[in-house]
Amino acid sequence: MKTNLYDAIVIGAGVGGLTVAALLAHQGRKVLLVEKSNRVGGRAKTLGGREILEHGETWYRDMLGQQYCWLAKTIPTFPEIQQNRLLDGYRLDLGYHGVSLNGRGYFYDLDQIIGSGEQAGVRFAGNVNATYIDEDWYLDFHAGKLDPRINAIVEENESSFLDFYFSAMKMGEADFRRFESVSLAQWCRERGIDRQHVLYEMLHAVGTLITTINDPDEISVGDIFRYFGEVINPRFKTGVARYPSGFAVGGIQQWMDSVRDRFLHFSGELWLETTVQEILVAEGKVRGVKIRRNNGSTIEVEAPIVVSNIPTQETFRYIDRALFPVEYVNRTEKLKSYGSIAPYFGLKSLALPQEQWKLGMKDTLVIPKGNRFSHDIYMCWNIQSQTDPLCAPEGKHLLTAYAPVTEDEARDKELMFWACEQIVEYLERRYPGFKESIEWALFPVSWRLEGVAKDVNQAGTLKTPVRAPNLEGLFFTGDTVKGYGVAMDCACAAGLICASEITGQDYGVY
Ligand SMILES: Cc1cc2nc3c(=O)[nH]c(=O)nc-3n(C[C@H](O)[C@H](O)[C@H](O)COP(=O)(O)OP(=O)(O)OC[C@H]3O[C@@H](n4cnc5c(N)ncnc54)[C@H](O)[C@@H]3O)c2cc1C
Repeated sequence: MKTNLYDAIVIGAGVGGLTVAALLAHQGRKVLLVEKSNRVGGRAKTLGGREILEHGETWYRDMLGQQYCWLAKTIPTFPEIQQNRLLDGYRLDLGYHGVSLNGRGYFYDLDQIIGSGEQAGVRFAGNVNATYIDEDWYLDFHAGKLDPRINAIVEENESSFLDFYFSAMKMGEADFRRFESVSLAQWCRERGIDRQHVLYEMLHAVGTLITTINDPDEISVGDIFRYFGEVINPRFKTGVARYPSGFAVGGIQQWMDSVRDRFLHFSGELWLETTVQEILVAEGKVRGVKIRRNNGSTIEVEAPIVVSNIPTQETFRYIDRALFPVEYVNRTEKLKSYGSIAPYFGLKSLALPQEQWKLGMKDTLVIPKGNRFSHDIYMCWNIQSQTDPLCAPEGKHLLTAYAPVTEDEARDKELMFWACEQIVEYLERRYPGFKESIEWALFPVSWRLEGVAKDVNQAGTLKTPVRAPNLEGLFFTGDTVKGYGVAMDCACAAGLICASEITGQDYGVY
C-alpha cells in the first residue's frame, strides 16, 4: 500500500531530527517526521518519577535500552523504590542533561529562526561551574572572570593558560580544522601547561565537559576551539550568553516539545510509535521509507528526500551498503561513541556545603586509573533541584551527574556496577554523611552519550557529512554527523547544517 507523497521524510525525532524537520517545514516543505518511541526527544527526554513507578522496572529498562542506556544499579532495589513511591514528584531527564551556554548556543540559533525554546516560553536556569583539584575547588573561568588563585598561578608561571580560552578568537576555518587532530594534552605539553598541575587539571576538566572524553590525549582541542571561536566567545562578548551551562526548567523535554510544536504549527506531520525498517531506493535515488506501525501494519511512504537521525554507525541496517563507497562504509561503521555513567540521587538533605549547592561541580579524579580503568574517571555533577526547583518535590533534592567512560567500558556490566559503587564511596569521602542523605539512586549507563566521540580522529568536520555520497536524496543529522559543540547543541548544529544543505538557506553554521 502507498500513501501521499511528502517533500521529505525525517527518521527520528531526537534533537537533530526535530531541528531538520522544523526548519524544512518552516520553509514550506511537506514533511513527515517518524519516531519509533511514544514521544519526541530521543536521548534527550524527560520522564516523570511517577510515570516510572507506574509503568515499572521492565518498562523503564526498555525505555533506557531504546536510547542506548541500561540500568547498572539502584539504591534500594527497584521493587523497594516502587513500593515506597520514592520517585514521586521528581522529573528525571534520561540522564544528566545540562544545556550548554544555558540554551544560548545553537539551540538559540534555531529558536530565533522558528520561534521555539525561549520564544515559546521555555525557561532555562543557568549555573556557574567549579572544578575540584585534590582537596580544593576553583571557580571556572567565566564571563571574563578568573578565580584569583588561578590568576596567581598563571602570573607566577607566566603561563599561556588563557590562550586556551582566547586564541580561538584569532583563528579561522583552516586553524579549526588543523587543530581537530591535535589533542588537549599535546596542546598543553607544547606550552608547558602539563607541568602546572592545577592549571592542567582545570583545562582537562573543561575539555572533558565540552567533549565528554576523559582522556586528555584523545580530546580534540580543535573541536573546543571552534566552539569557543564561533559560539562561546562572541556570545559572551555581546551579552547573548551569560552562563556556561544550565538546565531547561521542568526538564529538557520542555525544549524538545517546543520544537515539536513549531513543527506541527508549520503543518508538519508527526507519526509516533512508528519504526522505519528500510530506506527505499530506485535508480540511484532515494524514493521513501518502509515503516512498521505499532499495530504491526507495514507501509511504504514516498518522498524524494530522506533524512536519517539514526546514529550513522547503524545506517547500513536500513539501506544496502553496496550503494556506497567501501571506504565510506568502513569509516562510518567504525566511528567510536563515548559513553557515561549518569547517576541520579534523590536526597533528603544536602551533605555538601551550602556555597556549593548552586555550582556545577567537576572532579578530575573520582576513580583513579589503575587496573580497572586505563585513565582517571572524572565526574561532573549538580544539585539540579537548586537550579531547577521543578525537578524535585519540595524539601527534597536531586543530584544529577555524569562520569564519561568509553563505549566498551559502558557495555561492561561488572565494571560499571563496580564503578557505580566507587562513585558513592567517592561522594561519601568528599562529603561525609552523603550516604546517609540518600533516599534513592538510579544509575543509568549510556554507551552512546555522544554519538561520535570528539576525539582527534573523528571530531567536527571529520565526522560523517550530512549528505550521503553516491545517492541522491539521502541526508543525515544528529550528534554523529558534522556538527560542533556539546552533545545536544552539536546535534542541533548538525541539524542546521543539514537543513541548510537541503534548502540552500544560510543558517550561519557550515
Ligand atoms: C545519559 C545521557 C546523558 C546526557 N547528558 C547530556 C548533557 O548533559 N548535555 C548534552 O548536551 N547532552 C547530553 N547527552 C547527549 C544528548 O542527549 C545527545 O547528544 C542528543 O540528544 C543526541 O540527539 P540526536 O538527535 O543526535 O540523536 P537521538 O536523540 O538518538 O535521536 C534519534 C531518534 O531516532 C529515533 N529512531 C531510531 N531508530 C529509528 C527508526 N528505525 N525509526 C524511527 N525512529 C527511530 C530514536 O528513538 C530517537 O528518538 C546525554 C545523553 C545521555 C544518554
